[in-house]
Amino acid sequence: MTAFDRFLMVDWSGGNDRGPAPKADAIWTCVAGKAPEYHRNRQEVEAWLAAQITDALESGQRLCIGFDFPFGYPTGFAHAVTGSDDPLVLWDWLEVRIEDAPKANNRFDVAAEINRSLGTNGPFWGNGLARNVLGLPRRMEGYENPFAAHRQVEMETPGAFTCWQLAGAGAVGSQVLMGLPVLARLRRRFAGQVAVWPFQPLETPVAFVEIWPSLLADQVKAEMALRQAPIKDAVQVELVAQALAGLSVVQLAQLLDVDAPEEGWILGSGRADMLAAAVSGPKPPPLRNDCFALPPGVEWTPVEQALSLLQAGMRPVTGSEWTGLAQLTGCVLAAPVIAKRANPPQANTAVDGYGFAGPAPEGLNRLPLQFGRAAAGVPYDGVLEPGHALRILTGAALPGGVDTVVLDEDTSVDPGQAIAFHGPLRRGANTRNAGEDVAAGDTILPAGRRLTPADLALLAATGHDGAEVRKPLRVAVLSTGDEVVEPGAEAGPGAIYDANRPMLMAMVRAFGLEPVDMGRVEDNRFALQDRLNEAAAQADAILTSGGASAGDEDHVSALLRDAGAMQEWRIAVKPGRPLALGLWQGMPVFGLPGNPVAAMVCTLIFARPALLRLAGCDWSDPQAFDVPAAFEKRKKPGRREYLRARIREGRAEVFHSEGSGRISGLSWAEGLVELPDGELHVRPGDPVRYIPFGSFGWG
Ligand code: AMP
Ligand code: MG
Repeated sequence: MTAFDRFLMVDWSGGNDRGPAPKADAIWTCVAGKAPEYHRNRQEVEAWLAAQITDALESGQRLCIGFDFPFGYPTGFAHAVTGSDDPLVLWDWLEVRIEDAPKANNRFDVAAEINRSLGTNGPFWGNGLARNVLGLPRRMEGYENPFAAHRQVEMETPGAFTCWQLAGAGAVGSQVLMGLPVLARLRRRFAGQVAVWPFQPLETPVAFVEIWPSLLADQVKAEMALRQAPIKDAVQVELVAQALAGLSVVQLAQLLDVDAPEEGWILGSGRADMLAAAVSGPKPPPLRNDCFALPPGVEWTPVEQALSLLQAGMRPVTGSEWTGLAQLTGCVLAAPVIAKRANPPQANTAVDGYGFAGPAPEGLNRLPLQFGRAAAGVPYDGVLEPGHALRILTGAALPGGVDTVVLDEDTSVDPGQAIAFHGPLRRGANTRNAGEDVAAGDTILPAGRRLTPADLALLAATGHDGAEVRKPLRVAVLSTGDEVVEPGAEAGPGAIYDANRPMLMAMVRAFGLEPVDMGRVEDNRFALQDRLNEAAAQADAILTSGGASAGDEDHVSALLRDAGAMQEWRIAVKPGRPLALGLWQGMPVFGLPGNPVAAMVCTLIFARPALLRLAGCDWSDPQAFDVPAAFEKRKKPGRREYLRARIREGRAEVFHSEGSGRISGLSWAEGLVELPDGELHVRPGDPVRYIPFGSFGWG
């Protein structure tokens, strides 16, 4: 039976008391679903763990506790020390000898005692003390280890440290010596209630398992990037707890199914993908209450200033999740991605031809052919003799002795014997160097990047099968107005069909976000209030249209004002009436004008970049081009203007009417012409700034 009700992870420490304030490299624990907890020393955490076990037993809950240190040593060690192969006998053996107090312990002396009893200058090494300890080498000179350097699982888990090293950066040896006695005592105290994986069948209410948080290194990195000044150990235990709790019973059973009766095993080794998929990142902190604040005394805010205020106030509000390569297009990276592998991974040939050691001198070159060939994926496993040539095909790794390739077409071949060609040919000709495109360790993509199909190729080539990306931003879309009725429904006199909602939902989708349909609501404060509550519960941001000005029936602005977090943005823009921006239960609300033309322009120019920033993207201006105008227009100073436009024969045409109720003009247009804030007289042929709808994600 492998189902557990609770998961508790422990990031252990072999060091001394770390004081009362939370610090790195101390002991951190986390119960899945709760916040991580700090423990200043082992004495404190031992009592805390006993209380956790007691609580689980009393409430009839099955508890899985993970510890991040090896439960066993390489084969043969337990027997050499205790006369038994049973690792749990070694646990008890250590428990008798290890003395532990908050400020001092005898771990180096016990390790030295073991070394001496074995008559070897090892297997333990590393001494964190100033004094020398007889029998414990400080460094690896003269070191002898009668056992394997690593357990089997460590050889299959790149990066895992050896348990023999007791001091120095990353060493885990001390954690094992100081951890196993604590586990031995807990086992004795709760005799018959605790099983140790993978040595015992997990038939008891409590299980101890070995974990290694570095299996989630990518997720931890992403989570650290999301939070401010986090402690890595705390994030690690939180994510491992989340991952194990997020596995299905079948998945967990698969991970637990290992055969390692003496050395023990790391839970999830080789299946980091499964753990990663089970992590669901916690939500980042909410927006600040003043995120839409305008500077005092401003009457009409210029577009440029409105955009920089929005840029400063918005930041990502969605958590992150690990997503496989096939689903990544359009996703937003939550953390930078580092190349795991170089591209190309090894030097190879860019052409079909013959490889040799270059350079080739001017004039006729004749090289005897060596038997065999190198092809992509089928490397030549040998070394080319000096002065010879070898058949080599595009993409093949350069065999030893080859650094230059001559093209097939430039060669005459005497089959099986020799090739001839005319030099000169510089050394390295027709080859690609390892890493000439990307070196391992390079940052290939920044956080905030929306992934393109080409990015997927780059990720795959550099060793990634997925990435940590933002969860999609859910945007609630809501129409307001007594006159507005559902498209297709009976429409009495004075009624108009809801044109904004289908348009806005589709725009949200085109921005790569997730629209949530919140329907229509009449001009009634209480009804609107209820609907906004529902929207806030289901979405990360809210887009309303209508009712955003200061009139009697403008309830969106009235409600936001009452909620105390409303700003009426009078932006110097045409088309566009006041935009009501505010927070409703912590969710940003973009109160758009009801007019479809104004609703669309305000969404494109203001809501879109703000929503994308909330979704985790970098702030970006839409791509625009200067093109000659096909129209004439005089414009007054004071407002920036957006005209419905399209390009025909290389010139920007604008819609014949600027009426803001003209929906047909929106449909006619393929982009917008943006005219600057100042006074202007545009004549045919003058350059104007054209923003194709494609720059906004559709068109
Ligand atoms: P308001 O901003 O509520 O004063 O509305 C301004 C204009 O836009 C009015 O003529 C409304 O009838 C119209 N309008 C409001 N909402 C919509 C909608 N969802 N679809 C089409 N027109 C609308
Ligand atoms: Mg209205």
